[in-house]
Amino acid sequence: MLTSGKTAQKTLKNRIKCSGIGLHSGAAVSMTLNPAAPDTGIVFRRIDLPGQPLVRARFDQVSDLRLCTSVSAGEGVSVGTIEHLMAAFAGLGVDNVLVDIDGPEVPVMDGSSAPFVFLIECADLIDQVAPRRYLKVLKPVEVREGAASAALLPDEGFSLGFEIEFANAVIGRQVAEFRLEAGRFKSDLARARTFGLLQELEQMRSMGLARGGSLENAVVVGADRILNDDGLRYDDEFVRHKALDALGDLYLAGGPIIGRYEGCRSGHALNNRLLKALFADKSAFAWTTHGKPRDAAAGFRTMEFGARPRAAAEAAL
Ligand SMILES: [Zn+2]
Repeated sequence: MLTSGKTAQKTLKNRIKCSGIGLHSGAAVSMTLNPAAPDTGIVFRRIDLPGQPLVRARFDQVSDLRLCTSVSAGEGVSVGTIEHLMAAFAGLGVDNVLVDIDGPEVPVMDGSSAPFVFLIECADLIDQVAPRRYLKVLKPVEVREGAASAALLPDEGFSLGFEIEFANAVIGRQVAEFRLEAGRFKSDLARARTFGLLQELEQMRSMGLARGGSLENAVVVGADRILNDDGLRYDDEFVRHKALDALGDLYLAGGPIIGRYEGCRSGHALNNRLLKALFADKSAFAWTTHGKPRDAAAGFRTMEFGARPRAAAEAAL
């Protein structure tokens, strides 16, 4: 038993497998989620390569950030498009998993975290005899690039604000605001799919990206309409997906964050720079086992979407 005020680390109760295609490679890939010992964190194992090398899902292992988040343990030993899987681990409070994968990219599934939530729920979770370690933000840290910004600020628990603004009229300006609350990740964020503009798709393909991208695993946005027959899963699916991406990217810190994230037009590269900036300042953070305990089905605590622009974002736009 853990002493009071501490939360147990969690891993999967059972092993579970899925298969699909890589969003950018278009290649078929199989993935197995395995239980792992306390303090393992999230670790990938490339079972298709000699020696089955391990790749840690950590911010300082990130290699390629053009359109997804990839982690690498050296030349040719990488795993890409990990962010939606990482978001599912973060949203459901899963600390330790060994992810066996037989290719260079996590399967895109339907372009959201929902299939991974389903897998994790099927495998079930168990408490481990080790306290969860939280990364507590002690002072504000911000990174900027042009009109984009990302910041971490001290807060009681984990909260997240995100704002996007696209010239494309279908997407336009969207603002999301939420707090961690049990069950809310699954209902309010997990199903938001990745998206892309039709005009950018050809350009991505010419770069060798998005080869597996289709209406089956992404929302494709034309000049004045959404090309998917079924439309959107949430009215503001775009900003929710960006929030989901940020949650996944932040989980590369190595544990859940006690603090507030604010993103304005941010993406994987800026989110990674934010973590590096935080860890570069030893007075900006502390690791603690005294986090706000979340219940077994930990997810988002409360989540409100609506127009609550933040001052800094306004200034940047
Ligand atoms: Zn994404």
